[in-house]
Amino acid sequence: MILLQDMTQTELTDYITANFDVKPYVAKQIFGWLVKNADFDDMNNLPKSLREQLKLQCVAVSAKIVRTLTSKLDGTQKFLFELNDGNVVEGVLMNYKYGNTLCVSSQVGCRMGCKFCASTLGGLVRNLSAGEMLGQVLAVNALGSGKRYVTNIVLMGSGEPLDNFDNVVKFLRLVSSPEGINISLRNVSLSTCGIVPNIRKLADMKLPVNLTLSLHNADNEQRKEIMPITKAYSVEDAVEACRYFFEKTGRRINIEYTLIDGQNDSYSHALKLASMLRGISVHVNIIALNPVMETGLKGTSERCLKQFLQYLEKLGVSATRRRTMGQDIEGACGQLRRRYLEGNNGN
Ligand code: SAH
Repeated sequence: MILLQDMTQTELTDYITANFDVKPYVAKQIFGWLVKNADFDDMNNLPKSLREQLKLQCVAVSAKIVRTLTSKLDGTQKFLFELNDGNVVEGVLMNYKYGNTLCVSSQVGCRMGCKFCASTLGGLVRNLSAGEMLGQVLAVNALGSGKRYVTNIVLMGSGEPLDNFDNVVKFLRLVSSPEGINISLRNVSLSTCGIVPNIRKLADMKLPVNLTLSLHNADNEQRKEIMPITKAYSVEDAVEACRYFFEKTGRRINIEYTLIDGQNDSYSHALKLASMLRGISVHVNIIALNPVMETGLKGTSERCLKQFLQYLEKLGVSATRRRTMGQDIEGACGQLRRRYLEGNNGN
């Protein structure tokens, strides 16, 4: 089955006019419906016979919201999206003063093996297509009135976006296309554990997204313990690739630093981090680990977190604490999907 949300307006027009006996304006009408996340039965300005023919060959909607949890603390919403093959991925919608940020998944599961992350526990199931990433945004947009409900996107859901490079780049093109939902890439962040060649490839494409490097430890030996990707690409190489990205795009780099109790939260860790980042235009986001039952790792205490921030301040590193949101709804990567799968298996 062909997923229509995978296509740009031009691709859709070519496909529809080549396969169905219709004029290009009909393809435009269909594209308008797809952006609204409508299914064929809702496309009421198309002849019924055409809709029936379309159903035989293609699919309109790629991600359906099958579960929603809303935080009582801050209104953050967590969604479970079901894809057409029955796989599920998660998304989180956070409300800020400036708009609504949706955290989108790029893969079902993940093969990066980070020790603290729930998404990787069952390994990689499969990559998401561009349309399946877009579909998450369209499904959430459809909850609001008008097409601008989601204003910002972070590729920080399950999966490693740079391990699904081509589909992610296509997604970036789809989501920012003026005929579609037209979200500026300046409002899109891509977070990576540090797949160096693909950071460089992305930089060469000069797509003005915000790049976030999940660093969590500036010492190679220690980082290898929690993030196996370090065995392939060192911290130095990852940071150098980020510098290259900044040179090519002019976009400041964000560093994600999750504090794990007793593992990466001492003064010497702050010192190492500061020296690693010297001379680069970066901002560090600090967050305490969101404990995942299966990992046995604990988040750093409130007191140590504040102290770590002070260390960085003294060392001249631009850093803020990232607000933890949705703590009561298993906000961290992959947790809800695991519960869902466990629940289904238990039935
Ligand atoms: N694979 C990409 C994007 C998905 S993870 C990456 O590594 O950046 C998104 C962010 O959530 C990463 O910074 C990741 O390290 C962090 N993360 C994963 N599990 C977490 C947890 N339990 N607590 C806090 N942060 C977590």
